[in-house]
Amino acid sequence: MALTVKKFGGSSVATTEKIMAVAQRVLREKGPEDKVVVVVSAMGDTTDDLITLAKDLVGQPYQYTREMDMLLSTGEQVTIALLAMTLNKLGHPAVSLTGSQAGIKTNNAYTKGKILSVEPERVLGELAKGNIVVVAGFQGVNGDGDILTLGRGGSDTSAVALAGALQADSCEIFTDVDGVYSADPRVVTDARRMKEITYTEMLEMARLGAGVMQPRSVEMGKHYGVPIHVRSTFTQDSGTFIREAYTVEEKEFIIRGVTHDTNVAKIAILGLPDHPGVAYKIFSALATANIDVDMIVQSIRNTDKNIIDMVFTVAQPDLPQAKELVEKLGTEMQVFGILVDYNVAKVSVVGAGMLGHPGIAANMFGAMSDAGVNIEVISTSEISISCLIQADKVNEAVNAIHTRFFPRES
Ligand code: ADP
Ligand code: ASP
Ligand code: MG
Repeated sequence: MALTVKKFGGSSVATTEKIMAVAQRVLREKGPEDKVVVVVSAMGDTTDDLITLAKDLVGQPYQYTREMDMLLSTGEQVTIALLAMTLNKLGHPAVSLTGSQAGIKTNNAYTKGKILSVEPERVLGELAKGNIVVVAGFQGVNGDGDILTLGRGGSDTSAVALAGALQADSCEIFTDVDGVYSADPRVVTDARRMKEITYTEMLEMARLGAGVMQPRSVEMGKHYGVPIHVRSTFTQDSGTFIREAYTVEEKEFIIRGVTHDTNVAKIAILGLPDHPGVAYKIFSALATANIDVDMIVQSIRNTDKNIIDMVFTVAQPDLPQAKELVEKLGTEMQVFGILVDYNVAKVSVVGAGMLGHPGIAANMFGAMSDAGVNIEVISTSEISISCLIQADKVNEAVNAIHTRFFPRES
């Protein structure tokens, strides 16, 4: 007897035929004594469509974060009800639960909710009755009983959190690719599939744009020690295992992957006074508004005028609010000007092996130079190097860097 959590993403449940195929697969893979929890996303592009509806009505719907969560959480509720009905129709008892009913408790950060705890009693009770439990991904409930969503891609985190709380034997993430690749296979046609990757490297890849897993889900997997199996909904092949350490192969790779992120925007503040407390003022205001800031670069002081420039990036949906805050502070501090740019993207190389291997940055910059891509901002972590570039160059840059680190086999 095994307890498994299986998560099916939006493209895996995009149509009623696909929901039927998911139900059939779940039943085919389930032994008579097995307990199964299925976490599902909204059908196809439903979440995007719901955002468009709100934009059509109010322009900048993320001002109304509580209402956005009420709206966006409906997508997953459609899928759970349809899948639970289908499983019943195919002859197996099943019950659908919202995130709240499944005991997923979050903080109060509407639209970016973080799971604080999972109280799995209801899920365990339904499993004990013999039900397959179908849980709405991407959502939880705060202390006031309000629905929160967990950020884009949040169903991954719902699944891993449930697997952790239920001490599941496995957590499978079924998606439209058959594993984690050395770059997004939609952009790099000869990207290589990995058999396994560590939580640390996967977290860095996810954080830097590898949308196949939400970063929080990988953190959660590491925290609970849940091995995560990323695999295809449409084939039987084994995919990629995300776990603590490598077991057999691929250890010798210095670089594990090349990632890109087009969901970024750049803000530049020109002519800031150069004295203590200025950076604090800006970034504490952004932090209070729950806006994540990524690459930060401060120029050296212009000694004639005692001023500096500051450049940083935020996620695109946060740009309107970030801009408003920065403009207010900019007026108070009498800065020269504020520039924003939506047309940027971040490309990164990731690999724990780069520690102790000099020359990775030079190699990456060389590939971009050969491809004629201009670098605007550079940032590094212990296991990654990232460059901000113009968005229209992103595919060229990712391919050039990938070819440099993973030469095409002839
Ligand atoms: P789901 O709806 O199943 O959650 P997502 O669209 O969120 O699926 O994630 C799967 C997509 O992630 C793939 O179609 C692929 O284009 C993209 N992706 C980005 N980087 C990678 C990578 N390194 N490996 C695999 N897929 C990636
Ligand atoms: N439906 C949500 C989204 O599109 C959550 C998910 O699919 O994981 O981001
Ligand atoms: Mg996803």
